[in-house]
Amino acid sequence: MSSPSADRLDCPFPKLHLSQLYRDERFFMSLAYNQAIDAWRADEVPIGAVIECGGEVIGAAHNQVEHSDDPTAHAEILAITQAARAIGDWRLEGATLYVTKEPCPMCSGATIMSRLKRVIFAVPDPKMGCLGGATDLAALPRVNHRPIRESGVLETECRELLQAYFRLKRAAAAEAEPLDPPPTAAAG
Ligand SMILES: [Zn+2]
Repeated sequence: MSSPSADRLDCPFPKLHLSQLYRDERFFMSLAYNQAIDAWRADEVPIGAVIECGGEVIGAAHNQVEHSDDPTAHAEILAITQAARAIGDWRLEGATLYVTKEPCPMCSGATIMSRLKRVIFAVPDPKMGCLGGATDLAALPRVNHRPIRESGVLETECRELLQAYFRLKRAAAAEAEPLDPPPTAAAG
């Protein structure tokens, strides 16, 4: 007997509650971090995104790939769609995206196509990040918009969250697996 939530892992991290008095980069990243916590609690990879414009949050989302069975349901894409609806314009020229990990190829492309003014990510991703980590899509010679990039805001917190999630997932998977059958006898 198994249910979809049988391997669900409780999130051991509390949400952050930073002072609203200082609505600075750390503050908005803490909201993205809290979105990532919500992702974990929903059994999704804990990545969160928030879009700020004029000091207001106009988009906030977390990764929902598993529940929506949609490989494009990344936090950034969902937040960008929300933000465009909120202001009634697909051009997010005055807005800043805060996201807990450097955007993947798809989301990096979306930050350019939506003309986001700034993209601030917590954890650089040298494997899949496409705003400077693995490569830089905004460096394409003919690209007509280059978001300002910053990284490292709440990096430690966001990195620990991601690393703990994957560590616990691997441990749970190893526990659930029956003992490995012996490898097929190698010739000789
Ligand atoms: Zn993505």
